[in-house]
Amino acid sequence: MTTLILKPVSPAERSQWIDAFHAADPTLTIIDWDDPSVPPETVDYAFAWQPEGRRIAAMPNLRAVISPAAGLDHILRDPAFPRDMPLYRMGTQETVDQMGDYVCWAALTLVRDAWRWAEAQARQEWSPWLNQTRTAATTTVGVMGLGELGRATALRLKALGFQVCGWARSAHHIDGVDTFAGDDAFIPFLNRTDILVSLLPATSQTAGILGKKTFAHLRPQASIISVGRGSQLIAQDLVDAINSNVLRGAVLDVVPQEPLPQDSPLWTCRGVTISPHMASEASYRDRAAYAVSVIHQIEAGKQPALRYDPAKGY
Ligand code: NDP
Repeated sequence: MTTLILKPVSPAERSQWIDAFHAADPTLTIIDWDDPSVPPETVDYAFAWQPEGRRIAAMPNLRAVISPAAGLDHILRDPAFPRDMPLYRMGTQETVDQMGDYVCWAALTLVRDAWRWAEAQARQEWSPWLNQTRTAATTTVGVMGLGELGRATALRLKALGFQVCGWARSAHHIDGVDTFAGDDAFIPFLNRTDILVSLLPATSQTAGILGKKTFAHLRPQASIISVGRGSQLIAQDLVDAINSNVLRGAVLDVVPQEPLPQDSPLWTCRGVTISPHMASEASYRDRAAYAVSVIHQIEAGKQPALRYDPAKGY
């Protein structure tokens, strides 16, 4: 009997997760994270969103933790998380496809200044603007992070007709995409970019990367798409850059504080479109099937992909 302890984002989701896990593997025993009668030594695997500090470390026979999200910051914020515990990030095809859809929508939204239509509609005002010269073909999207999501998103943007460049820590080859690697190539990468997308993980190196030092090197009237993690965005720098015409607009799915506080200047900043951290939110069915496949691989003595590397920090 293999056991999985489950901690969803909200208790209201529990029954849907249990159904999804049972559809993927009816033999799996699902344990409730909040059930005090469960001895910690009986837990084999954990599928947990924001596990409270020290809970994972207190499960002595745990074989792996599987994150319901591609980002792992919600787990690694626990200082007691055991450094050698196998930890896997989410990586389903739905996750990849939804992110690709979102970034393509956001890039086209920015090219056409679609926020102005929304603003005019709210005023019930029909006021076209003329001499629109911007197209996908004349716009270069720069994707920071060329991992599972960044690589596929870069290819989707290319297929849509954008010029695309990408930047990561190590060298990558992606057909039709100009790639840049490492800190020395960061400014040359920014110099080419009209729309900057962050698909970086939350690490100490990426914190605050969407700030004025970066914005200063982008092409004139550039825009931002924030889909990595909120810790990467310096909100006041973005507002200042838009108000001073350094930047033209932004689409933000992740912000420094979530939910975004009522008094945040981002809500009312001209040219900013906000979504509530749901650029990529794969179905219960898809994510449970992925988690079960990770468990089956480990039980068969294999090494599943997408394992967290403590040396790299992602
Ligand atoms: P991966 O780990 O597969 O890829 C991370 C990429 O970032 C790699 O290309 C890596 O470089 C690059 N990178 C990391 N650190 C640096 C650095 N300091 N400088 C330059 N490049 C760096 O992650 P995923 O593609 O699966 O996911 C990316 C992030 O997207 C997640 O961590 C999560 O925060 C976010 N996300 C957001 C969602 C949303 O709904 N908004 C949903 C899902 C994910 P290299 O290739 O050289 O290792």
